[in-house]
Amino acid sequence: DTIGENLDRTVRRFPGRDALVDMASGRRWTYAEFAADVDDLALGLLDLGIVKGDRVGIWAPNRPEWTMVQYATARIGAILVTVNPAYRAHELEYVLRQSGIRLLVAADRFKTSDYAAMIEEVGPRCPDLEFTALLDGPVWNSLPERGRRADRTELLRAQAALSPDDPVNIQYTSGTTGFPKGATLSHHNILNNAYFVGESCHYSEQDRVCIPVPFYHCFGMVMGNLACTSHGAAMVIPAPAFDPGATLAAVQAEACTSLYGVPTMFIAELAHPDFETYDLSSLRTGIMAGSPCPVEVMKEVIDRMGMREVSICYGMTETSPVSTQTRVDDSVERRVSTVGRVGPHLEAKVVDPATGRTVPRGEPGELCTRGYSVMLGYWDQPERTAEAVDAARWMHTGDLAVMDGDGYLSITGRIKDMVIRGGENLYPREIEEFLHGHPDVMDVQVIGVPDPKYGEELMAWVRMREGAEPLTAEAVRAYCDGRLAHFKIPRYVHVVEEFPMTVTGKIRKIEMRETATRLLG
Ligand code: ATP
Ligand code: MG
Repeated sequence: DTIGENLDRTVRRFPGRDALVDMASGRRWTYAEFAADVDDLALGLLDLGIVKGDRVGIWAPNRPEWTMVQYATARIGAILVTVNPAYRAHELEYVLRQSGIRLLVAADRFKTSDYAAMIEEVGPRCPDLEFTALLDGPVWNSLPERGRRADRTELLRAQAALSPDDPVNIQYTSGTTGFPKGATLSHHNILNNAYFVGESCHYSEQDRVCIPVPFYHCFGMVMGNLACTSHGAAMVIPAPAFDPGATLAAVQAEACTSLYGVPTMFIAELAHPDFETYDLSSLRTGIMAGSPCPVEVMKEVIDRMGMREVSICYGMTETSPVSTQTRVDDSVERRVSTVGRVGPHLEAKVVDPATGRTVPRGEPGELCTRGYSVMLGYWDQPERTAEAVDAARWMHTGDLAVMDGDGYLSITGRIKDMVIRGGENLYPREIEEFLHGHPDVMDVQVIGVPDPKYGEELMAWVRMREGAEPLTAEAVRAYCDGRLAHFKIPRYVHVVEEFPMTVTGKIRKIEMRETATRLLG
């Protein structure tokens, strides 16, 4: 199926069930209402002259219009380019030009960012940009009206011209390790991925999924929106941008059965001063993903949030995104400490990055994945595609993993984050897990910093729990002594309020290393 055909199927089965609920505006749509609005918008886009293959950008926080644009573009075969809400003018210009966006749908402003002014500034330098539709502005508002006046058979004709293998989406990666790359994904790529993610969460039309993760990223739009619409579940938008209190309030008010988040979001919710006052008893499942999921946090999510079926997913934008997911019938130990096994119709192997040979089970190496989920390629960057996806269609993830005898994978970090201290390979993840056990530690990240003697030394960045004294290097040493090999004990400790993060909630270790190197002078 294409995404449009799949939505039609769900609308026929569950016309009266909730499709979308927006807490900020209080608006809600059943599947029948949602599809009607999507169709008007799709016809309006056709009437504006948008055709199959055109790139349509969306630059806005999580709002219902975002979701409408997602499905309207998919219906007519336009390629949706999802623009990071945190971008500034020069990044916007890069994305507009790199993907050749013809129509940009955008909020006029968000937080302190004046989107309209930035579009005005860079627009003239983007030769492909023909139309800008600011949400609530005249062009945007005219689209549904144009759609209602248009000939509805146009929509059927547009939909009939599509194949599931057509590109439907250009998703830029988070930019954690460098400049974002535009992964081009087909209907087949993301619809299947969304369907299987929803299936492992046992979604049905009874489910109501709270989605505080950004739509611009595959976690929100594929594992969130598309997993819901392919199973008839409801999408609940707690707030335009992540807010722990608003998320907990949405779960309670809408009796959500599932909640998503990157680890730092769950940490913020659990630490919310009013946490105990929210009724979260409707929660059954959810997904933690995006970066290493600390065992302690997973346990709290199960025990204190009641998400007994919560799963961990591992994946990347380039693979639509999910490659592995834990399942309800896995042991609790595996559900908190591994990223599960490779998903249906996918393959995984762990190789020595130097030789490309598969390493024995239990040994670390680079994780490679293959199957329906691997992107068509980076948009207009064949050389970079060839570096990431080899001739046999294996995606080289850049992540280090260990596969056990039963096929369960543990992610030990990114190749780029591995620390080499005096010739010893150190995996920050292992040390972070250990320090998470310290009662005063709310969150911790470990990086390598340059050292004249050992090449690199370890530094821990720590966020303290409310009311705890700042941790010193001596205190960390005392805590680790005798329980962690001496060369794994961080030499430096740096207490912070926040970690530098991407909008998708990934910790920018690259930025931490730059800051730390400056601090150490
Ligand atoms: P860029 O490629 O631009 O540097 P990025 O890799 O962070 O950014 P994404 O595609 O959003 O961009 O993120 C994919 C990465 O997130 C994976 O390669 C992996 O490093 C990390 N990741 C995702 N899920 C998990 C998980 N469950 N455990 C550990 N790491 C994870
Ligand atoms: Mg990446």
